[in-house]
Amino acid sequence: MKHTPVKIDSTDSHALATASLENLYRIFTVPEAPNSTLGAIDKEISDNLMGFLTDRIVARERSLKAIEADFSDSDIPEVPQFVSDYTEFVLDKLVAQSVHTAAPGFIGHMATPLPHFMLPLSRIMVALNQNLVKIETSKAFTPLERQVLGMLHGLVYERNADFYADNLHNSRRALGSFCSGGTTANITALWVARNQMFRPDGDFQGLAREGIANAMLHAGYRKLAIVVSERGHYSLSKAADVLGIGRNNVISVPTDARSKIDLKALRATCARLQSEQVGIVSIVGIAGATETGQVDPLTEMAAIAADVGAHFHVDAAWGGPTLMSDTYKPILKGIELADSVTIDAHKQLYVPMGAGMVVFKDPQALGAVEHHAEYILRAGSKDLGQYSMEGSRPGMAMLVHAAFHIIGRKGYEIIIDQNVEKAKAFARMIDAHSDFELITDPELNILNYRYAPAAVQSRLASASSAEQMVINDVLDRANKRIQKQQRAAGKTFVSRTRFSQHRYGGQPVSVFRVVMANPMTTLETLRTILNEQCDLAQRDGTRAILSELDALA
Ligand SMILES: *Cc1c(COP(=O)(O)O)cnc(C)c1O
Repeated sequence: MKHTPVKIDSTDSHALATASLENLYRIFTVPEAPNSTLGAIDKEISDNLMGFLTDRIVARERSLKAIEADFSDSDIPEVPQFVSDYTEFVLDKLVAQSVHTAAPGFIGHMATPLPHFMLPLSRIMVALNQNLVKIETSKAFTPLERQVLGMLHGLVYERNADFYADNLHNSRRALGSFCSGGTTANITALWVARNQMFRPDGDFQGLAREGIANAMLHAGYRKLAIVVSERGHYSLSKAADVLGIGRNNVISVPTDARSKIDLKALRATCARLQSEQVGIVSIVGIAGATETGQVDPLTEMAAIAADVGAHFHVDAAWGGPTLMSDTYKPILKGIELADSVTIDAHKQLYVPMGAGMVVFKDPQALGAVEHHAEYILRAGSKDLGQYSMEGSRPGMAMLVHAAFHIIGRKGYEIIIDQNVEKAKAFARMIDAHSDFELITDPELNILNYRYAPAAVQSRLASASSAEQMVINDVLDRANKRIQKQQRAAGKTFVSRTRFSQHRYGGQPVSVFRVVMANPMTTLETLRTILNEQCDLAQRDGTRAILSELDALA
């Protein structure tokens, strides 16, 4: 590991500061000296972010158990510490043992690298420490957030200029809700769907006031359900739990050979639920499945939702920004028919962690969850806190605003196109390699494959279903081992998942998962990753697993 020297000030590393009012004033008012540890790091980050990341954020091979020992004291320190001493601790125990998610070879998760300008701009955001719950604590940040939500709404729904002029800053309307991520965005969408389903009606004051038990009695339902394909994100189960629908009532619909929701099965599922007096709160389409990257047939799903009378939500947490690409946008056709759409900013909008959004086709939909409080959220104000599940919220929208302006639609288009094209090129590379099996041909920029030597692949092709099960079990163990060893080696990283495969009669199979989102990843990086996996497959442990297949012959 390379180490850029950081100049350290001369304080004794065991020295303790004293708790005094004077010293407390100091930490609020006096910046760190440029030659102190924190000052030097600060400068290094400002001068050379990439250098800081590549030199420092490399996971040192140390067990989690050993790391836990550095974080085992459960007492709040009694006596203060000097900032420099504390910073030493952070560098050594935290930074050095964090994960280098911005490395070009880290292609296993949805963690995207940050453009350099995010650091100084996020510092402005942190320094101002605005609270978006209301205008009294955010002023210009509130119109900015409304504008960002409007831009995202425009990306999805493409309404005309008059529509946005009427709604963008209208105190009675909200085009969406800015929240901490895709999970909160999905919960917010389904919260609105649920409350709209049980609006006030005669003596019934609505679910929001009377609660779920009265709402069910009033409407005559036995249960409620959320309907989504088997590739639905687990946040939908959390939503079902939080909203009183119940995790068992996230009804999972089978997928076709391309991992997209089976429309016939969806229709049948909805008909069955209705005949059983189950209220369908929402049908959820996926635009960029977390595991496979596939996009559901949104237009057809919207028609089914309309027939059934259910809210249609599209979870585009990952895939939404594909709408910036003229080339790949048609894949998301039908998204404009959704009642609500989730898009994560901390994924393919390249904004720091903690930024998600949900937009609603109807600018009055969020009225279903509107909340007022006299001291803080007065009815008729433009405060965005009226419509958010969260209370106090940071000014993260500023960073989305920054990215929209500094990268621009055309800049995003280039990044998205490159990501998809790299995923397709990697798929061809895998297909051409005799010892790998391509499992999911990428529709967007996520793909799945596994190690399967050529001879094993041809055996699988002619094997009975029972034989396939035995062979797949051996391959599962070999692939798990390869993935773990690759992760431990720390040079590159792909993740691993397991899902049922049409080509093996629905048998679940363990596969590598690749998320192509780092503009710095090259075809050379991808070649290196495959070569490393081939080398790992030749190691004794994996060879021993694979040799079990010889005994079966
Ligand atoms: C990432 C993701 C989520 C959850 O988003 P968080 O930001 O992790 O809360 C939901 N749905 C899909 C499809 C996702 O990819």
